Amino acid sequence: MPNIAKRMSNVSPSAIVQVTNKVRAMKAEGRKVISFSIGVPNFTPPQHLFDAAHKEIDEGTLAYLPGRGTDELINAYLYRLEQDGFAGYKKENVAVTLGAKNALFDLFYSLIDEGDEVIIPTPYWTSYADWVDMVSAKGVYLRCGAEQNYKLTPEQLENAITPKTKMFLFNNPSNPTGMVYTRDEIKAIADVLVKHDIWIISDDIYDKLIFDGEKFHHLLHVCPELQDRMIMTQSISKTYGLPGWRVGMVAAPEAVTKQILTMTSNTIMNVPGVMMAAAAAAFKGPHGFMGDLRTIFAEKRNMVMDSLAKVNGINCPKPQGAFYAFPDVSAYFGKTYNGKKLNNDVDVVEAILEEKEVAMVPGSAFGEPNSMRISYACSNEDLTEGLKRIEAFFAEIQ
Ligand code: PLP
Repeated sequence: MPNIAKRMSNVSPSAIVQVTNKVRAMKAEGRKVISFSIGVPNFTPPQHLFDAAHKEIDEGTLAYLPGRGTDELINAYLYRLEQDGFAGYKKENVAVTLGAKNALFDLFYSLIDEGDEVIIPTPYWTSYADWVDMVSAKGVYLRCGAEQNYKLTPEQLENAITPKTKMFLFNNPSNPTGMVYTRDEIKAIADVLVKHDIWIISDDIYDKLIFDGEKFHHLLHVCPELQDRMIMTQSISKTYGLPGWRVGMVAAPEAVTKQILTMTSNTIMNVPGVMMAAAAAAFKGPHGFMGDLRTIFAEKRNMVMDSLAKVNGINCPKPQGAFYAFPDVSAYFGKTYNGKKLNNDVDVVEAILEEKEVAMVPGSAFGEPNSMRISYACSNEDLTEGLKRIEAFFAEIQ
């Protein structure tokens, strides 16, 4: 058999997908696994999204569609941008992609040369590091541990920028930590970025999932001067509950959206029209359901925090957004469960899966090996039971 390309040697299948596959296999064996592993919201999207998709099936075209997106979708997204406080965006500045993943990969592929430095606050969402490897860039991973609430400081950013820095990748609210930056924190980061001519990707896919009455603050809100270098990515996966329908959006300077269109025309050609119709309906609104969603997720977040507070030695900065918690469990490294030594995050997560049948993702998949990720977007029943099992696991550790 001929060789696989060398460039794939550092790239592994998504760690999250690997855990998901393992859970599927265990369930197929009849085991009662509770999954806190995948970032899929557990709510039914509003009916008008389905109605729009049905209408497109009945009345839409079967032909190829514009790579940038249908006019209906583009206009709906421009409307949403305006509603969200982003002025000055026109048709040339936006493009649809097959989920935010497709957008982010295309951006890495078309903006980064071999050896360019990409600054990524860590913990980061898993795929970022794989894209760095895929395009032979140099990832500059700035560790932001639990002791600093998993948040990047302006000093860390300033010290990391070199003449080779090409891009800064920012995700707020954060997957995997659920952290949300305050306005002052965003402003301090923007004050550094404004001095340096680098691309900024702002992965905003959790922007509507913020709790406790807190507001979403964007780098562009506090520093509109960044607009000519700012690339914003969005998706219908999380806030609209449609991860499998694969619609992402990019808003960026025209020079960047042009590259996205080039990539689209040579790869996926267009996003399916049925999905674009649903996405257009999503962006047009109404968005009333999101208030309920925030209340529901905040309650689940509280359940997680109350449970973890009962476990000695776990430090979990309180998430204010998304649907993840990221407890630091390093106090348990070196201890023993049922005769098995727990050397690191992978050992802890694997032991909890084997012994208590609760699935999570080890922190090392996100570049932070002291922690593990709990995705709490499941039913309250599963959440209560899974948390009870995790508490029992740590209580039984020697
Ligand atoms: N960015 C972050 C931070 C994510 O958590 C995810 C999905 O989990 C994505 C991007 C990809 O989203 P999509 O489903 O739109 O490809």
